Amino acid sequence: MRKVIHWFRNDLRVNDNEALTDALKIADEVIPVYIFDDRIFKGQTSYGFPKTNKYRCKFIIESVTQLRTHLEELGLRLIVRSGIPEDILFDIASELKTSSISCNRERTHEEVLVQDALEEKLWTIGQEMRYYRGKMLYYTSDLPFPITQCPDTFTQFRKEVEKFVPVRDPFPIPTFHKHHFYSDIDDGVIPDLAFFGWEDFSIDKGMDFKGGEKAALTELEYYIWEKGLVQDYFNTRNALLGRDFSTKMSPYLSQGCISPKQIYTEVKKYEEKNGSTKSSYWVIFELMWRDFFRFMGKKHKNKIFQRKGTKDGDYPKYPRNDEVLEKWMNGETGVPFIDANMKELNATGFMSNRGRQNVASYFVHTCQQDWIFGAEYFESFLIDYDPCSNYGNWNYLAGVGSDPREGRKFNILTQARKYDPDAAYVKYWLPNYESMDAKDVVMLNADD
Ligand SMILES: Cc1cc2nc3c(=O)[nH]c(=O)nc-3n(C[C@H](O)[C@H](O)[C@H](O)COP(=O)(O)OP(=O)(O)OC[C@H]3O[C@@H](n4cnc5c(N)ncnc54)[C@H](O)[C@@H]3O)c2cc1C
Repeated sequence: MRKVIHWFRNDLRVNDNEALTDALKIADEVIPVYIFDDRIFKGQTSYGFPKTNKYRCKFIIESVTQLRTHLEELGLRLIVRSGIPEDILFDIASELKTSSISCNRERTHEEVLVQDALEEKLWTIGQEMRYYRGKMLYYTSDLPFPITQCPDTFTQFRKEVEKFVPVRDPFPIPTFHKHHFYSDIDDGVIPDLAFFGWEDFSIDKGMDFKGGEKAALTELEYYIWEKGLVQDYFNTRNALLGRDFSTKMSPYLSQGCISPKQIYTEVKKYEEKNGSTKSSYWVIFELMWRDFFRFMGKKHKNKIFQRKGTKDGDYPKYPRNDEVLEKWMNGETGVPFIDANMKELNATGFMSNRGRQNVASYFVHTCQQDWIFGAEYFESFLIDYDPCSNYGNWNYLAGVGSDPREGRKFNILTQARKYDPDAAYVKYWLPNYESMDAKDVVMLNADD
């Protein structure tokens, strides 16, 4: 009787889940497990921010809850625990005498430490890890270059990849059998927000993301088919206000409630029916950015988390200014375009891509503070936090990453004029500007 544990990590889905599919194929009994890692849910970043703020925490709790229901519908139970994954999984593996643990392989520092520690423990009882891929559009093995030779600029990467590397088909939903059900282990309770020290909350600004695989598929259906928003994505993608200007797939991608291959496949279906447009292509283009940062993480390893970034050159050590940091975090810099974006982040856990670029550039180049502080603040607050996307983008904006242009600094006034000319976004998040003339509000963004 072959028993396999499938350890759900950032792959909280049943569709297109190679590791789960394979476990169900090779094993007589599959034991799905999810563990809320104390270090991630109760720990702090180096600057003392909670590693997982309430927005992402709630989103993950909802995603795990939906996964449990989904698995139950298919005849499996999801075992849930909180603590240290390598210890808990080792205990379960020893107790149930499993043969292996399958999971999606992670490539970033903290995640690798966990999987390595677990693997070494498993060896002591004659068991093994089985690693799978599932986070990316492209497979490393399909690339036309070894990962160590991956181009360091996005444009070069895209040119070498998109025409030549096919995106593989998503795995269909696996076949479950009654005998995959197992017994005699406590299912465990899914913790609530209070368990992690957060009060329950609701968001009334139209940016309330509900976690889970089914929620992800509903959102994608809404964006592509119900509203046909993909049709105009290229023109709307830099907007700031509301839900519909971009796909809002990032929280789901970060927890693996959906895979990039699934989004790609759906966009392709849309193109087959409606023709391919610059907009439909651009959704895939953005997914390539996501892959690119992952490949940068794989190629440069821990450098993406270090002050000198992947460029490995000099990076000034700015003196810390607590007042400046507080103002930036709280959205009280006096620069409305920056402040509105930070208010949105603090109130919802989300910020548009345009907003992120501006507040990061402002933080690094105007405030002249340590970019790692900004990146850690994002890590804590973002509902869609992803190590490679977050640190890769901060590397880029701090000038220590893959931006081929030196010293890029966003002109906040120009950005506000272009992307919020009537100050609608600013007034939405900063009602104190409500009665002010829009032009005057925009001018407050001038950097003097
Ligand atoms: C400083 C900074 C930090 C960021 N941190 C994160 C992060 O932690 N997690 C995260 O998912 N994204 C991050 N991004 C990228 C981007 O802002 C978000 O992916 C995007 O805003 C999410 O909204 P969406 O799903 O509607 O995106 P869409 O515009 O609909 O794009 C579709 C998908 O493409 C991917 N994508 C788009 N832009 C980027 C990009 N610049 N880099 C990587 N992937 C991209 C995302 O997976 C996104 O869901 C960051 C960007 C900046 C400038």
